[in-house]
Amino acid sequence: MLVAIDLALDRLFEYNVPEALAKKLAVGQLLCIPFGHREARGFAMAIMEDAPSSTAGKAYKLKDVSSIVDEIPFFGPSTLELVKRIASYTLSPIESVLKAAVPAAVLKPGAKEKRQLYVECALGGEMPKGEGTERQRWLYAQLRRVGGGWLSQVVEEFKTTPSTLRQMQKAGYIKIEEVQRRRNPLNISRILPSRPLPLNPGQQAALDAIGKATKPVLLFGVTGSGKTEVYLQAIDRELKKGGGAIVMVPEIALTPQTVQRFASRFGHRVAVLHSALSDGERYDEWHRIRNGEASVVVGPRSAVFAPVKNLSLIVVDEEHDTSYKQDVSPRYNARDVAVMRAAMEGAKVVLGSATPSLETWANAKKGKYSIASMPNRAGAGSLPKVNVVDMAYEKDRGIFSRALMDAIQLRLDRGEQTILFLNRRGFSRSLSCEDCSEPVMCPKCSVAYTYHKADQCLRCHICGSWCEVPAKCPACGSGRLSYGGIGTQRAEEALAKCFPTAKVLRMDADSTSRKNSHDDILGAFRKGEAQILLGTQMIAKGLDFPNVTLVGILNADSSLNMPDFRAAERTFQLIAQVSGRAGRAELPGEVFIQTYSPDETAIIAAAKGDFEQFAAGELAVRKATNYPPYCHLAAISVQSKNQKLAADWAQMYAKSLAGASKHFGSLDAGEAVPAAIEKADEWYRWQITVRSATASAIAAAWKWLVAVRPPHKDLRLAVDMDAYSLV
Ligand code: ADP
Ligand code: ZN
Ligand code: ZN
Repeated sequence: MLVAIDLALDRLFEYNVPEALAKKLAVGQLLCIPFGHREARGFAMAIMEDAPSSTAGKAYKLKDVSSIVDEIPFFGPSTLELVKRIASYTLSPIESVLKAAVPAAVLKPGAKEKRQLYVECALGGEMPKGEGTERQRWLYAQLRRVGGGWLSQVVEEFKTTPSTLRQMQKAGYIKIEEVQRRRNPLNISRILPSRPLPLNPGQQAALDAIGKATKPVLLFGVTGSGKTEVYLQAIDRELKKGGGAIVMVPEIALTPQTVQRFASRFGHRVAVLHSALSDGERYDEWHRIRNGEASVVVGPRSAVFAPVKNLSLIVVDEEHDTSYKQDVSPRYNARDVAVMRAAMEGAKVVLGSATPSLETWANAKKGKYSIASMPNRAGAGSLPKVNVVDMAYEKDRGIFSRALMDAIQLRLDRGEQTILFLNRRGFSRSLSCEDCSEPVMCPKCSVAYTYHKADQCLRCHICGSWCEVPAKCPACGSGRLSYGGIGTQRAEEALAKCFPTAKVLRMDADSTSRKNSHDDILGAFRKGEAQILLGTQMIAKGLDFPNVTLVGILNADSSLNMPDFRAAERTFQLIAQVSGRAGRAELPGEVFIQTYSPDETAIIAAAKGDFEQFAAGELAVRKATNYPPYCHLAAISVQSKNQKLAADWAQMYAKSLAGASKHFGSLDAGEAVPAAIEKADEWYRWQITVRSATASAIAAAWKWLVAVRPPHKDLRLAVDMDAYSLV
């Protein structure tokens, strides 16, 4: 038989199966095997009869498998097939994909169920009169009243000690037994059950479409259209038929609020997987899923691999979210894996978004996916009124336009709440003109140049061209060029000055570094302890505050100037998502978008909430410039702690690729460029983008490249297929 072991060697190792284990052996089991001078663990990847071909006739004897760690396979043949496909598509070793698919907490040697001591009364009724001490009689009465409990709880609750309880056990009054205790991260007993809502016609049509679907369904519904209720009822239908479901949500949206909506409907059948769980919780949740106790899994991208029994539905909420793409190897996109897995296992898949990714939208337009639209808000809320504020006309150039200040004041007077959003993407990396507000753009591409401090020049991160920092604005001739931007702290100070009596909560990477601080801030805002919530990307998604009637986007442009061909798409998504936070309940909402580029399609379309207009325009641009979804784009990253080595090798690789491109079909290899973040953690980073009509052409070129030019030992070389982050 063959075993892939979890060392990054990207090859399979063969082991002999002793007679005693042969009957129990199955693909997907975790095995103990001798490896070098130690015992290692590995998964059974394939079982063969005898005389493995690769070693047939060789002199040495295969080593024996030592033992089977767990007889129940960790994954079935279909997951194994999925893992192989992802490994081959993302050009990563199989073991690295296996590691992504099975949580480390589950694989850790020694990981096991937690067993704890449980205390309960041993006598049928009360303690006989005259027996025991007064203290023991009191404790016994308490235990009878509560019906028993975990030893640790009993000790704490009744201010006693384990030895007192042990004495009572010896006397035969109580029983202390070790029982398995599942660490359930959900406090189910505190969650109120919810009932299915009567669906509106749009939701009903979407639910019907999902029921009948034979291909992936794009649930295209504006924020607040009630997509979650549709997911819930679609899941319910599958559960009634004996199926199971996975619900993927972006990590940032995996708040207790989201999880509760699923837990209220499906109770203990819900398992949660997310990064804040302890190893023990993760271990237990994973096993609850595998043994079928939990049939609805809610989690971030890794949840796509959850071993759900009879998987019949996968929901990818906010399918456009970039957190679905893993940015370390294996660089898979969980949304794409969901579609792949669903097809392999005959499950349905629903991709939900108010602002679908252009990849998904193009698939829907081609008829590869079907579309269910929900253009109106469910329940009470209506879509907010959106105002675009041209900051070029704001003479004092403060952070807040006059219109927005007045709107905030109005909310303060009325006792309503405001969310202010500061777009930090692309912050201060591009050079813009203070007078005409134009960023300095690459003449050959539709992206802004990125300023590189090290060599004081502007570079294009798409095509690699560069120029010196201009003395004057190329658009209007003004000499006032700046790299400046505003930060949340500066905005907070400005708010304090303008509205001295208002309480402001700030939410950004700095204010949320402490555990739970994220939930604390949102909880305080929900309770009305502050009138204004000021934050970054973190506040853009999934939040639902009924008393918020005003949303201000302070600097809508900064993501437009990102050196990324998806800059316009990101900007549109951000504005649409943030605007969606206003007017979620009865109170009507209003949005102010502050921008220096009021004529940009992304801004105009976002202000109108017109995704289709935006998508049509942007897809035309992508087509004309040959960018995804009209081709595959991979980023090859060349890194070294030696600056010259990184540059030389990157340039050499780029040259090799360009020279060989005709052998790989329609391959278009760009020049080597330093990454926007040129040095990270002492590593100098260079990048080459490769585009092609097919992913397989890129894969072939990559394999050829590393074969003919194996990287220097001081180099880190990686490829990111369908790259999302080009900085
Ligand atoms: P989305 O996920 O599309 O942003 P939600 O599922 O959060 O939307 O729904 C928005 C609000 O509308 C929620 O408060 C929800 O309870 C409410 N809602 C959803 N469906 C219905 C319905 N059929 N009837 C009444 N209210 C609904
Ligand atoms: Zn200018
Ligand atoms: Zn360019």
